[in-house]
Amino acid sequence: MKNQPPVHTGRHFLQIPGPTNVPDRVLHAIAFPTIDHRGPEFSDLGKEVIAGMQRVFQTEGTVVMYPSSGTGAWEAALVNTLSPGDRVVMFETGQFATLWRQMAGRLGIEIDFVPGDWRHGVDPAKVIEKLAADREHRIKAVCVVHNETSTGVTTRVPAIRAAIDEARHPALLMVDTISSLGSIDYRHDEWGVDVTVGGSQKGLMLPPGLGFNAVSKKAMAASKTAKMTRSYWDWQAMAESGHTGFFPYTPATNLLYGLREALKMLLEEEGLPAVFRRHERHAEATRRAVNGWGLEVLCADPREYSSALTAVVVPDGYDADRVREIILDGFDMSLGTGLGKMKGKIFRIGHLGYFNDLMLCGTLCGVEMGLHRAGIPHRAGGVAAALEYLGALQSGA
Ligand SMILES: *Cc1c(COP(=O)(O)O)cnc(C)c1O
Repeated sequence: MKNQPPVHTGRHFLQIPGPTNVPDRVLHAIAFPTIDHRGPEFSDLGKEVIAGMQRVFQTEGTVVMYPSSGTGAWEAALVNTLSPGDRVVMFETGQFATLWRQMAGRLGIEIDFVPGDWRHGVDPAKVIEKLAADREHRIKAVCVVHNETSTGVTTRVPAIRAAIDEARHPALLMVDTISSLGSIDYRHDEWGVDVTVGGSQKGLMLPPGLGFNAVSKKAMAASKTAKMTRSYWDWQAMAESGHTGFFPYTPATNLLYGLREALKMLLEEEGLPAVFRRHERHAEATRRAVNGWGLEVLCADPREYSSALTAVVVPDGYDADRVREIILDGFDMSLGTGLGKMKGKIFRIGHLGYFNDLMLCGTLCGVEMGLHRAGIPHRAGGVAAALEYLGALQSGA
């Protein structure tokens, strides 16, 4: 039996920061029979989920939805608003910002990539500096990742908006919220964002397979003159779906059943403000555990702590992936790996989506036992610190 993989009983703990745990009721909804996407029943479904997504994005503007991963929605944001040779400013906050930049480069966009240390969000002062220096307004967009999933650092989007306004620059503001939407407060309209990019498999508690753009009037106007080649991603035909409930090509019908159910949970039952408070509370409890272990949270600025995930730095000379491997083998829990520059240096605890106090307790217990088994120097009492915090405060307080 030596080389057999371990047999696990009970539920797997999927504590990567996306895809996240999908509620059973969402899985059941997805199992309903597929219907005719051109038939009368479909229209109500289409209109309902688009209207629900407007509430999630906190916008009254256009929301488009693709049968795609989040990466598709990234591409849609760029190709609908820009022309070949256009200049954009992007910020090296982590792996996802780096990948979005790579995509923009492949599309023939000129990128000013502001270097970063993967421990901070976008610095508003840098935004002002870049835009103020661009007197001819060659920069067409400022692109930021709201919640950098590779580092657990959240950029303060209102401060970025204020920086663009202070520089009196007409650039569009594009924001990736793939891992923050439905877990961290985000306001497309109020924060003056032009294109917001979202995905289904993180805060929205769905399997992978849906990509979203929320589009401002200014971005929609830009799309009328943008020259980038596009077909599948074109907003014009998609934008009608909010009114008609129909899509220009076959939508991911069964995922839309799931989305309808998830929206009911987020908007009608728990309510977004309580959803955000729950995530903040679980993030705080997680950081207390990390501090209790005497380990370091990767995010260097408390104003930028992510409520969706926490990246934990493993001491020099130890391999974070070995800790993850031990935890997966021993306790059947998946934690996020260190991506790109952070490979082997950190592991990431996802605490977003369909999640509660006891699931967090189980998660932190698994980490503490894993640290012990892996021989990572740490103090006892991390879990105890989290329990004390969770036990003292009522859920939603
Ligand atoms: C997950 C993620 C992506 C990529 O989404 P895919 O669905 O894997 O294409 C992009 N940006 C952020 C911030 C993410 O968390």
